[in-house]
Amino acid sequence: MNVLVINAGSSSLKYQLINVETHTLMAKGICERVGSAEAFHKHGLDDNEVVIDAKMADHDDAMALVLESLVSGQDAAIASLSEIDAVGHRIVQGGKYFDRSVLIDDDVIAKIDELAELAPLHNGAALMGIHACMKHMPGIPMVAVFDTSFFTTLPPKAYMYPLPYELYEKYAIRKYGAHGTSHRYISERAAVVLDEPLEDLKLITLHLGNGCSASAIDHGVAVDTSMGLTPLDGLMMGTRCGAIDPAIVPFVMEHENLTAEEMNNLMNKQSGLLGISGVSNDLRSVRTASEEGNERAMLAYDMFSNSVKKYIGQYIAVMGGVDAIVLTAGVGENCDKMRRMIFSGLQPLGIVLDEEKNRHRGFERIISTDDSAVQIIIIPTNEEYMIARDTYEIVHDQMVGIQP
Ligand code: ADP
Repeated sequence: MNVLVINAGSSSLKYQLINVETHTLMAKGICERVGSAEAFHKHGLDDNEVVIDAKMADHDDAMALVLESLVSGQDAAIASLSEIDAVGHRIVQGGKYFDRSVLIDDDVIAKIDELAELAPLHNGAALMGIHACMKHMPGIPMVAVFDTSFFTTLPPKAYMYPLPYELYEKYAIRKYGAHGTSHRYISERAAVVLDEPLEDLKLITLHLGNGCSASAIDHGVAVDTSMGLTPLDGLMMGTRCGAIDPAIVPFVMEHENLTAEEMNNLMNKQSGLLGISGVSNDLRSVRTASEEGNERAMLAYDMFSNSVKKYIGQYIAVMGGVDAIVLTAGVGENCDKMRRMIFSGLQPLGIVLDEEKNRHRGFERIISTDDSAVQIIIIPTNEEYMIARDTYEIVHDQMVGIQP
């Protein structure tokens, strides 16, 4: 079964065409700056990637270009659109409604729309992607895969905020988490690498990219996670501040004369590694600057690693121990120096990084010492594969008449 995976952002549309049975990535690409004069479309597998300037007024135009690129040219991934069996959509916010992936119908669309209040940029964009697919591939089965559904298992003591209870009742203000598809994928793969059932393991999963999040997964069930009502909470990130004293918000708004939107922008786009270093949100540039002696870059590095370290401590306490710590995404997979700093000093907790293994590059791998009580594992994430697999399972079950 060929599944087209769509990840629609506010001005972008990422896609992958995956054959789920053979685990083959058939095509991938991204339309960026959709709606602007500088819009462009990157399409193709690694060595054959082409970048095309293309006019895209909206996601509908972008989708038309994507479908065209899948069937045209000598490297066409498929001969006709009828070879696409189903579409899987990444949806950021599933709120209280969705504890798993679902087949998209009118009711699901209405609920995704209703939840857009909690994730205006993301859910709105996903809806544009869904409508564009319905227009260009009428009748094709589509599945919604929610970033939040993996965290619907959190107990109330983890997802409630100590604010007046009425705010929860009135606005559903609570922790929803984010990056759930990634945490789900890397926890499953970690169990495979360890050759133990997921249900027997206590895992801490760390998704460290531009956005960063940590989760505690106790016997296969997510019991806590660092992102909150929105993806601003928790760890320090590329441009996001993560958790700060909430009283700073009114203080800065008052003294800097900022609107709520401007304050939100400051915390989401001008903080984190970028805000502290003044150099970049990209850890590679911060690393270079810190190695050249830039003190603010060194501080940003220190703060980032310390922020991760504190979540490791929290989640060991929450679960009463940990069997393995799993890292993924740009920083988690690639930055040996950051990993060294995160795990330094954790030997008394039974967490011992192997310096040599930490320097090696590779795919899925264990980088703790052989006698470390807690394993440290790197798993490159693959959210698209997870979305394709969920889509396959739901559409396949529907075809053979299995009720969920
Ligand atoms: P996103 O959250 O946008 O998907 P990624 O998972 O691609 O982000 O992670 C981007 C981050 O990973 C950037 O801060 C980048 O600097 C960092 N990164 C990627 N490769 C390396 C590397 N070799 N060393 C240090 N940091 C890296």
